Amino acid sequence: MDKERILIVDDEPLILEMVASYVTTLGFEVQTASNGLEAIGTLRHEPFTILLTDIKMPEMDGFELIKTVRTEFPDIHIIAMTGHGASYTFTDVVECGATDYVNKPFSLDEVRAKLNRVVREKRLLRDLKQKSMELEKANEDLRRLDNLKSIFVSSVSHELRTPLTVIKEFISLMLEGHGGPLTESQEEYLGIAHKNILRLTNLIDTLLDFSRIESGKGLQLKFEPARLTEVVEDASMTLAQALEEKRITLESRLDPEMPQVLIDRNRLIEVFINLINNGIKFTPTGGRISIDTRGLTEKRDYLKVMVSDTGIGIAPEDLPNVFNRFYQGQSTGISMGTGLGLAITKEIIEGHQGSIQVESRLGSGSSFIFTLPLLQVPNIFRLIVQPMLEEAEKEGLPFSVIQVKFWDSRMKREMSLSYELWGGIKYALQKMVRSVDLVVPFPNHLIYLFSFIDQRLAQEIGERVEVKLTQGGYVPKGTEVQFKTYSYPQEAKSKEEFLQGCRLLIKSE
Ligand code: ADP
Repeated sequence: MDKERILIVDDEPLILEMVASYVTTLGFEVQTASNGLEAIGTLRHEPFTILLTDIKMPEMDGFELIKTVRTEFPDIHIIAMTGHGASYTFTDVVECGATDYVNKPFSLDEVRAKLNRVVREKRLLRDLKQKSMELEKANEDLRRLDNLKSIFVSSVSHELRTPLTVIKEFISLMLEGHGGPLTESQEEYLGIAHKNILRLTNLIDTLLDFSRIESGKGLQLKFEPARLTEVVEDASMTLAQALEEKRITLESRLDPEMPQVLIDRNRLIEVFINLINNGIKFTPTGGRISIDTRGLTEKRDYLKVMVSDTGIGIAPEDLPNVFNRFYQGQSTGISMGTGLGLAITKEIIEGHQGSIQVESRLGSGSSFIFTLPLLQVPNIFRLIVQPMLEEAEKEGLPFSVIQVKFWDSRMKREMSLSYELWGGIKYALQKMVRSVDLVVPFPNHLIYLFSFIDQRLAQEIGERVEVKLTQGGYVPKGTEVQFKTYSYPQEAKSKEEFLQGCRLLIKSE
């Protein structure tokens, strides 16, 4: 290691000489000066780590020297050689900026002890700095690895998903008899394969969601109006076999007539699959899982939904943690899964600006209660218009709303279309206008299209929709299809103005 460089300052040549030669024998590289001014000159030309200085000196005394060194060279350790019976106190010296002092007359042993301490401290500090740099680097490596892991998980899951979808589709085709008649065993074996592919697909979906959330991209929900009963049906179809195997009854007590919700349909299916699947895992054979609504939230814009089971329940110490990533219950003793299901479920619900909570007691089942946005104008604003507008502004993109209306030209009034007709129209629209980001049919007589396109393209799409829907037989004869467009920033200078205009266009009917 390099020698520590020390500057010794004293106006008494004898003391200076003595201390300097002693300190040299201790292994320091020594320079001397006979007053403050000379010392400052030396310090400005060469680097030192320690200053050992007398206080009473001509030209510039120790106090002034210490102050100057403190401001100009904050890293230098300063040891003052204080005079016996002097007019100042040790506190004065330390307050001035000295790190330590030796009181004259001192023994050389004392000087050695003080210097050794300084050197020790400096080494410790150097080690600490070194360690903190190493830690910083390790941290950096970990961050890079973590990032690599996320990219890896994401790309592997994507790569796995495509072939799996193909396998699933072909097995479904065979099961449906498209490859010719099946023997009983063939059907059974294919059924088992199919069930396990569904499990794999779910797992991959979970991983994909997880990597999206982790990378900060969010889930990118696509909202559309939906009937909850149909969503639950889709989810329970996927789990039919698992339910049957454990002889668990799934009871959906949802009213088919209840108002529609504005949700990302596929994600919501995932939510129900996660919750029902947990119900199946943690409920003994012969149990029951039920799905209910619990009325509306206070503002009447969100629906409360409950999924409960008659299973083993959740221990009080697990309850606050079940929504955490990778958390698996301590007490359940069952380790089947990734501990990600509920974390992603919560993320999806919160993506709908809803909330989820759990109520449970060990031994008496669990209930998961969450809220979902109803198909209402304020929710269209909250979940679609505002976020899309913000994104448009951030990315410097245009944003347009296209409203499509149906007019009964014989009765001279707006037309109400049946739910079935809506299905066809929605399907046609989605195929027809692929560049449109979101299609929201609003019961029962309107459709809104939201897209990052400008006014001209919005007009073109509007016209295309008008012609196709009228001529394609999607609407009853005598129905006029009309459209209006509204574009940002062409028709509104500010976001606020655009929102105002949108409120007029998308007003509650
Ligand atoms: P996992 O994939 O491990 O099931 P989840 O995030 O879905 O992960 O669930 C986390 C933990 O919450 C589970 O390990 C379990 O301890 C507990 N849990 C979730 N749902 C239920 C339920 N219906 N009954 C009892 N415990 C549950």
